[in-house]
Amino acid sequence: MKNRRDFLKNTGLITGSALCALPIIKGGPADFFINKSTKMVFRFRPYELQLKHVFTLASNSRKTTPVMLTEIEYDGIIGYGEASMPPYLGENYETAGNFLKQVDLSQFSNPFFMEDILAYVDKISPGNYAAKASVDIALHDLVGKLMNQPWFRIWGLNPQHTPNTSFTIGIDSPEVVKEKVLEASPYKILKVKLGRSTDKEMISTIRTVTNKPLCVDVNQGWKDKKEALDMIFWLKEQGVVFVEQPMPKEEKDNIAWLTMNSPLPIIADEAVQTVSDVNSVSGIYSGINIKLMKCGGLRAAHIMADIARARGMKVMIGCMTETSCAVSAAAQLSPLTDWADLDGNLLISNDIFDGVKIVDGKVTLPDRAGIGITKIK
Ligand code: MG
Repeated sequence: MKNRRDFLKNTGLITGSALCALPIIKGGPADFFINKSTKMVFRFRPYELQLKHVFTLASNSRKTTPVMLTEIEYDGIIGYGEASMPPYLGENYETAGNFLKQVDLSQFSNPFFMEDILAYVDKISPGNYAAKASVDIALHDLVGKLMNQPWFRIWGLNPQHTPNTSFTIGIDSPEVVKEKVLEASPYKILKVKLGRSTDKEMISTIRTVTNKPLCVDVNQGWKDKKEALDMIFWLKEQGVVFVEQPMPKEEKDNIAWLTMNSPLPIIADEAVQTVSDVNSVSGIYSGINIKLMKCGGLRAAHIMADIARARGMKVMIGCMTETSCAVSAAAQLSPLTDWADLDGNLLISNDIFDGVKIVDGKVTLPDRAGIGITKIK
């Protein structure tokens, strides 16, 4: 196959008079879609993201995030992927490297058989969700590019229905918090990290500089359900719209009680990892926070959103600190969600991709094939 136009001819992805010139193709679907002599080539390399600010959660602080960048090349076209590995998720350069070394895509000659390919990747070993996501994202990018369409269009989603994204304000001194809030002026909703004794002070500090709606992420930091409920009533008065992972994920009964009595939606983050977890948090939480690095990629994320919707739950899409590669991939799904927390690429100083943009606070999808990115470095 000489070039992309030849490929599109072979796949039937061109229309009009050109179709008349197409040869009659014999054989099954595999013969129809691909040139069997072309193989997929998979590559990966480590990269360290530099964070603009020290990032502080209830449990730890850090200034860098390790990521693994991946590529799948097929017939001269490259799909890009990424595994972001914040330490609390348990993956790192070594685990991801060991996993990705085993990924041999040369056995597949048809990238369109995504179910087969991703089932093979999933079976290499359990866990390793970020590493699996890096293959899933690269494959989606490749296939979208081969079809010359962005994934939101392939899935039939309306790009006008993307939500506003929140911008995360980490735990910090009042001066730095005020500075970060002012930096976040383009965003219409702010996400505040809570889970310490200074929670009320943090919210009050923010309220001295802005009246924007807030959402809060406690990262399992509250320990007493009654104190948590009192805090949630106070937060509602402060203009908070939902609360993410208020208590440790193991405390299912306490969280179910909190959700039942809370005036605000309670969203599961640490408590929900992948497809098999969605049913188990239904009835305990009001909604789920889907992240590609937790669940293994776009395929799993889409299924999770569908299950949650079928169960009447809210759906949020989030991210880790990531380049625009993984964030833009997640953004393709965002028209399906109630809330987005897709600011991970904005928190780093050494992005190497251009992709999704935030325009007037809203997730804005580029009309660009695949996951919507171009490599800039
Ligand atoms: Mg969270």
